[in-house]
Amino acid sequence: MKVSNDWRVALRVIDRIEKSGFEAVIVGGAVRDHLLQRQINDVDVATSALPSEVKEIFSSTVDVGIEHGTVLVLDEGEPIEVTTYRTEGTYSDYRRPEEVAFVRNLEEDLQRRDFTINAMAFTKDGQIIDLFGGKEDIENKVIRAVGNPNVRFREDALRMLRAIRFSAQLGFSIEEETLKAIQIDSDLIDFIANERIAMEIAKIWKSKYVNYGLQLLIESNLTKYLVGNFAEQLDYWRTFKAEKSEVGWAYLCLLNRQEIQNIIDFYRLSNKEKNYIRSVLNAFDALRQKWTAMDYFSYELEILETAYHFARWQNVKLPFEKEDIQVVKNNLPIKSIEELAINGNHLMAWTTRKRGPWIKVALDAAIIAVLNGYVENDVDKLKEWFLNDFINEG
Ligand code: ATP
Ligand code: MG
Repeated sequence: MKVSNDWRVALRVIDRIEKSGFEAVIVGGAVRDHLLQRQINDVDVATSALPSEVKEIFSSTVDVGIEHGTVLVLDEGEPIEVTTYRTEGTYSDYRRPEEVAFVRNLEEDLQRRDFTINAMAFTKDGQIIDLFGGKEDIENKVIRAVGNPNVRFREDALRMLRAIRFSAQLGFSIEEETLKAIQIDSDLIDFIANERIAMEIAKIWKSKYVNYGLQLLIESNLTKYLVGNFAEQLDYWRTFKAEKSEVGWAYLCLLNRQEIQNIIDFYRLSNKEKNYIRSVLNAFDALRQKWTAMDYFSYELEILETAYHFARWQNVKLPFEKEDIQVVKNNLPIKSIEELAINGNHLMAWTTRKRGPWIKVALDAAIIAVLNGYVENDVDKLKEWFLNDFINEG
């Protein structure tokens, strides 16, 4: 099995903490992904040492979340988050508590974790500490809450959505009692900040089993409290696949055209996401008319390919293959405005007109004329076109 660099660095950090007389282990997602032989995101270390004690052991640390017990250790190369064993004190409002209590034993720390597959620890000698049957749940591919699921979801309602996110990522089912508890408590998701909801859904968009995740989202009743008509559109997500979450948001907007503004507001989408959505939807609409040379010119390849996927995912038949998009784009006489043989200064020299918005109009017209093969991309030819066709007609 391939051991990532971060994993090795974490083991060196653990070694140094132990030499100072404290316990330390790798915890959480890294242990789960290690057992699953999946790509490990980040390796988190948990320790019996208090944050102040961790800072004494290492020479280079950053206080990234010291009130929650997390210190970032830089000594061994890659940064490693080291978090003091903790419990989460009292909960109110169905949200994670602001205050945490540090504890000296690992068991209490593992107990506060959401699911059995996320509640294991890995020691320096390669031993797995598995107090809640996480290994067996990994083998059986199930997401199961640690302890009583309703109690755990009432402590922090986001866990309900996390359960579904992990299902979508791993293709695991949700254990019966855990799923029932979500169905019962689904309304509590309203107490969770929309940004945190959106972060989990964004992870669903990038998951391997999106359709399955959405199916569980519907089955768990959670979709009732989310914006988007998932229940009636499940079929359109069957072959959906995305490497970045913007694609998921844009596709959700496409399927729910009347609700785009609600989607943007509810999931607190950023300007970058909004711009992306606008571009892809425009490209998609243009595709339905048939892309012109200008469309191939003005949209980026990734936008065109995504619009193409949108059509495919909705079972719209297209008379060309995805690979053709790049070919057409590469064969355009010019690929950017910089490649046009003329610019505003040429136009200014050819007339007595004052500088103004007409220049952009003329350059756009020149691009279209070149793209459509009406005129060659050459200064003299463009001058002729400009004086005879553009000025006379415009
Ligand atoms: P990812 O690969 O997405 O980072 P992860 O399992 O590392 O997955 P994180 O959100 O990074 O997930 O959290 C790290 C660990 O902290 C989890 O594995 C889990 O043990 C614990 N955890 C995180 N969020 C919660 C929560 N809301 N309730 C209980 N435990 C949590
Ligand atoms: Mg993580």
